[in-house]
Amino acid sequence: MPYAYDDQNIFAKILRGEIPNNTVLETEHALAFHDIQPQAPVHVLVIPKGPYVTYDHFCNAASDAEIVDFMRCIGKVCTMLGIESDTGDKGFRAISNAGEDGVQEVPHLHVHLLGGRRMGRMVQPPRD
Ligand code: 5GP
Repeated sequence: MPYAYDDQNIFAKILRGEIPNNTVLETEHALAFHDIQPQAPVHVLVIPKGPYVTYDHFCNAASDAEIVDFMRCIGKVCTMLGIESDTGDKGFRAISNAGEDGVQEVPHLHVHLLGGRRMGRMVQPPRD
């Protein structure tokens, strides 16, 4: 079944308050929190509150209100964490791994926001 959502995934548990998280920002339709294993000085995950598996699932199925709120949440988090790109000397990388080829581990849409250092090559050769 396409986009079958597993409500036992770890981010669904975070959204239900069953697992703690280090919240950066909560909005009506989104939650931003620090990644438990940061890969950069700033590593935040932004997730929608709705049951969306992947980025394309969200783009195809979410309401306009959810999409706007999610994107605005990302913008606000960048400003809050000082990685916004408007000053010219900062910036960040936004990544959303989707499905098998995207090597997605948690099946609830999340956008990684990585910053605070230079990121290097965008895509590495596969290690697995
Ligand atoms: P993916 O590989 O699916 O794109 O990324 C999943 C991310 O979720 C990883 O960066 C991993 O460190 C993070 N993660 C997994 N479990 C937890 C958790 O319980 N709490 C938080 N804050 N992050 C988690």
